[in-house]
Amino acid sequence: MTTHTDSSTIDDTGNDLKGAIGAQMEAAFDDVQALYRRLHQYPELPFQEHETSARLAEALETLGYAVTRGVGGTGVVAVLKNGDGPTVMLRGDMDALPIKEDTGLDYASTRTAETEGGTVPLMHACGHDLHSSCVVGAAAVMAGLKERWSGTLMLICQPAEEIFGGARAMLDDGLYDRFGRPDVILGQHNMPALAGSVGHRAGGTMAACTNLAVTIHGAGGHGSMPAQTVDPVVIAAHVVTRLQTIVSREVPPEETVVVTVGKLAAGTQANIIPHSAELEINIRSFDNALHRQVVASIERIIRAECEAGRSPKPPAFRVLNETIALHNHPASVERVRRAHAAQFGEESLYAMPRLNGSEDFPFFGNAEAGGFGGEDIPYVYWFIGATPAERWAETPGEGVAQKMRHLEMPHSPYYFPGNALTMRTGIEAMAAGALAYLA
Ligand code: ZN
Repeated sequence: MTTHTDSSTIDDTGNDLKGAIGAQMEAAFDDVQALYRRLHQYPELPFQEHETSARLAEALETLGYAVTRGVGGTGVVAVLKNGDGPTVMLRGDMDALPIKEDTGLDYASTRTAETEGGTVPLMHACGHDLHSSCVVGAAAVMAGLKERWSGTLMLICQPAEEIFGGARAMLDDGLYDRFGRPDVILGQHNMPALAGSVGHRAGGTMAACTNLAVTIHGAGGHGSMPAQTVDPVVIAAHVVTRLQTIVSREVPPEETVVVTVGKLAAGTQANIIPHSAELEINIRSFDNALHRQVVASIERIIRAECEAGRSPKPPAFRVLNETIALHNHPASVERVRRAHAAQFGEESLYAMPRLNGSEDFPFFGNAEAGGFGGEDIPYVYWFIGATPAERWAETPGEGVAQKMRHLEMPHSPYYFPGNALTMRTGIEAMAAGALAYLA
């Protein structure tokens, strides 16, 4: 049995809940690790997680859960009803990335996929294989501890997180109408922090993100006769520089907002004025209302620049993908953090710094953005450390925020969060989090 501290924690009923979770985790561990390695070796792109979801569904069914496949595409929902009480939803994600794995693992992926852009390599470089394996591990722990809790456990393996599509797809497929509406939603992500540690943060934790494609229309012609044309290159150039004034002049200085024009494409050669120009813009912020304001400012500026430049028709806007800011519910964070302190010891917990990365997890809790109506549902999203102790010790800097800058991050071909301690911690963190509501 693995314990993270020497002291045992006795719950209100005098039972050693920490030890019981640890024993169940240990009993399930080899199977979960074997599942993880299979998932890792066979990564799949967003909404194509056919093998992945089949393996997960089968594992959850074997554990006695009522499993439904194909929710929101390839999503899996597994429910265990165990008497009266609240409904807790645990979420893992399943999709991988078009990256060539270079971890040197003997179960590293060598898979590829065919896409519109050609053949791409595939890798679980964000550890979603770990997240969904931990959901299965927590499912085993909770099934083994059925006598110790009552309520409903709802587990989901979500497709397509990387393109911010899977959470919405599951909600649009009637997730809460069909399987019940949870009272709290719990999720986790691995990160470069000390393996065995767990990070929490109340309030704004991850950024809202919009990726916007824009077409600026001109009227093409000969480069020697600009007066007979409308030059979209000049309009686009003004747009790019003027967009910089949003963050510097329209956003309060205490707020963090990023506006990046990551793509600017027009024309074919020097003596041809092109017909149109294409931009792709990445917007990030931590406040959903401010985020909408920034996107509106971008549209206003581009429309006005097009008018100023005599554009023959209004610009076209297309949202490529989008997610809202992740705001952890403070009281729920505190409840889960206490359960994790009992499981792992206070010394294994850290205060999570805010991340500029984004997640589609918050759609599950946001009634308006998630489109499910009624009240928002409180959620807690925490972070499990994935860096082995030796590597952590030799990394320069103090604390998570400083050391993170020197470590491989998710989406790197070298990133590997699936060590045994991280997996054990991820399984126990989910089970302890659920039991904070159900035990
Ligand atoms: Zn991820």
